[in-house]
Amino acid sequence: MADKRDYYEVLGVDRNASEDEIKKAYRQAAKKYHPDLNPGDKNAEAKFKEVNEAYEVLSDREKKARYDQYGHAGVDPNFGAGGAYGGSGFGGFSGDFGDLGDLFGSIFGGGFGGRRASPNAPRRGGDVRLNLNLTFEEAAKGCKKTVRVSAIENCADCSGTGARKGTSPETCPTCHGHGSVVQIQRTPFGQMQTQRVCERCRGTGKIVKDPCPTCSGKGKVRRSRDLEVTVPAGIDDGQILSLGGRGDAGVNGGPAGDLHITVSVRPHPLFERHGYDVYCEEPVTFVQAALGGEIVVPTLDGKVNLKIREGTQPGDEYKLKGRGIPILRSAGRGDQYVRIKVEVPRSLNGEQKKKLQELDGALNESNFKDRRSFFQKVKDLFTDE
Ligand SMILES: [Zn+2]
Ligand SMILES: [Zn+2]
Repeated sequence: MADKRDYYEVLGVDRNASEDEIKKAYRQAAKKYHPDLNPGDKNAEAKFKEVNEAYEVLSDREKKARYDQYGHAGVDPNFGAGGAYGGSGFGGFSGDFGDLGDLFGSIFGGGFGGRRASPNAPRRGGDVRLNLNLTFEEAAKGCKKTVRVSAIENCADCSGTGARKGTSPETCPTCHGHGSVVQIQRTPFGQMQTQRVCERCRGTGKIVKDPCPTCSGKGKVRRSRDLEVTVPAGIDDGQILSLGGRGDAGVNGGPAGDLHITVSVRPHPLFERHGYDVYCEEPVTFVQAALGGEIVVPTLDGKVNLKIREGTQPGDEYKLKGRGIPILRSAGRGDQYVRIKVEVPRSLNGEQKKKLQELDGALNESNFKDRRSFFQKVKDLFTDE
């Protein structure tokens, strides 16, 4: 792996930076290096990629935690099976299901004859969670995305029985298939009945003599599959898409768990989202602001012409109706607001300065309403004293 820069360094934030600080730093850096704003600049393009990669990790809680602990090795997909951290160490939410039997055994095993969950009872499979990064436009307009889902499935080779193909599990001779054994004990309080999970079959009631080599007799395997997800238009950062039955397979015929996909939306270099409205700030020259005219505004639908009034002031907002984000699962759309920033010319040459001074001489108080009213107030303030 080539020498990779530290992701915190790339975004120029402290290791303790908050989510908001990371987002803000990303916005600034993405704006600075965005290819649209640096056409043909290879260096900017490389930086833009680097910044996006850093943000993809640092904006994802799970990936960030791995990165904080293991560095690049913790989040690099190429660092897979052959790497120092093995194949299955990362990304599992459900843990190793093989230990489930032990876990239940230790929780329920020592019961004093009370009611306990039968190991043979159908149980719902675990929920699977994952994160999905979207660009601003993908979230706004909706898209189809392929996600890799790692979930527990019934082993196809043994149909979930755990027994080698062609054989089947036998009824446990110790518990006769009940999965539990009852013990009668004499205690100072009288006779006590204790029910225990059968140790021989671990509560399954069945013994697999010839285990299926694919699943090592567990009847379940973890598999990664690509799943195409339809992301609805208008989804926002932090919202969760839930797909029923796409999680881990159920146990003993129980239903499968759900798949929960948390959406992370990358900040846009020009647009900011508030609810379903889009905000953007557009600089105009002071001459454009003074004379008014048509400016070109970026929107989700492409470039749109906008007429600005004569005498437009810095901070004036123009509304583009229906140019915002599509409202989730509805036909409507938010609006776009364009906030005007007036840029005062810099580094004027002698000729230009002369022309401005001429203009200044031709202007009078009535051209500057705010200034006039300000100085009127100042005057009033001091005559009252
Ligand atoms: Zn199997
Ligand atoms: Zn048994």
